[in-house]
Amino acid sequence: ANYCKPEGLIKDSCCDFKTVDDLNQEILPDLNKLLETPFFSHFKLNLHKTCPFWNANELCSKVDCKVSTLDRSEVPEPWLPDDPLGSINFEPIPFGSKKTERCTFTDKDFCVLEDEESLDGEYVNLLKNPERFTGYAGDSSAKVWRSIYEENCFGILNNLNGDNLFLNSDNTNNVCSEKRIFYRIVSGLHASISTHICDQYFNSTSGQWERNLECFVSRVGSFPDRLENMYFDYVILLRAITKVSRYLKNYSYCGSEPEQDKLIKKHLARISKTTRSCPDTFDEKALFQGDDAKSLKTQFKEHFRNITRVMDCIGCQKCRLWGKIQTGGVGTALKILFSYEEKSLNPKKNPNLFQKTEIVALLNTFGRLSESIAAVERFRELYQKRQSME
Ligand code: FAD
Repeated sequence: ANYCKPEGLIKDSCCDFKTVDDLNQEILPDLNKLLETPFFSHFKLNLHKTCPFWNANELCSKVDCKVSTLDRSEVPEPWLPDDPLGSINFEPIPFGSKKTERCTFTDKDFCVLEDEESLDGEYVNLLKNPERFTGYAGDSSAKVWRSIYEENCFGILNNLNGDNLFLNSDNTNNVCSEKRIFYRIVSGLHASISTHICDQYFNSTSGQWERNLECFVSRVGSFPDRLENMYFDYVILLRAITKVSRYLKNYSYCGSEPEQDKLIKKHLARISKTTRSCPDTFDEKALFQGDDAKSLKTQFKEHFRNITRVMDCIGCQKCRLWGKIQTGGVGTALKILFSYEEKSLNPKKNPNLFQKTEIVALLNTFGRLSESIAAVERFRELYQKRQSME
């Protein structure tokens, strides 16, 4: 299979590949430092919800599928639940147990949020649970991806059994741009997850974690559309973060720790200075304008919420953790782009538009996409090196 680095304009956006590569190089150091702060590296979620769509009780028991959760003493003080009896349940809950599920979302949301008030959740230090190859594969993961594409991508795809998923422009010509974009977002997320798996792959022969070029080329690199969709997701997140930057600047990150708050704002300011140098990466106003705009937007939201719910069907805790973060992050970006006018993203007038979970998911997802874009370059260099040796 061949792998060429893409060039030119990224479809459905106002940005080209080179601009994204250059911007990303500038943003990455600050973004990484931001994501190392306790506010952004500690995420609360419930990893034990039951799959709402089918019976999915099998859990991958490989060591790399496991998530290490924090006990109460390890959770930074400001985020401990405001619960006088300290009754948050930090004990691991057996997979498949029927806990009460509290799903929360408002009309503005594109995802079903993790309930921050719930006592069932656990805190995870993301830095100690990196997203990488876990070995989760086979029927279980195939079923999740199939359900995402077949049932939630507006029927754009009706055959995901082989590798005939690749859509060319002819296939998509008769699909309205909102539906096409929906599919592209999902495919881009899938490509990004595959890129992380291949970038940090466990070689069972050598017993080492290493970059796996064949894995990347066969899953992403040799599919120009998948690669482009991944860049497209980056552009969407970039636009959402630019649009919400004033809100983020005025958000209170850790009430009791002003030093942390200052540090976070310093990195955010640098990131938004860079993103502002390229403000119009994506024009969200061009979408949902036709006669059927309202019902189309409702469908778009419902389908994306379904995708966030399918994450509870993933039979690998680590994949579930990062699946929830990344679908939550994209859902938050869509909420920023399509539920609010720029002027209503005013932190003084509307201080509580986003929960901590949404902000943490948004920036971590951007971080993941950012790593994927950087990995494309690393894989390209490796590819060229191998070619020159042949
Ligand atoms: P899959 O990636 O399972 O893809 C299934 C089919 O979808 C392919 O045959 C192809 O036809 C099509 N397809 C593939 N990529 C795209 C694309 N970008 N756009 C459109 N169509 C595409 N595994 C880990 O090791 N670590 C993880 O952290 C991890 N996280 C996961 C998170 C989620 C949400 C899910 C559902 C799975 C996760 N997995 C993870 C499993 C992983 O994604 C693969 O399913 C697994 O590695 C098997 O890969 P595969 O080659 O069979 O193809």
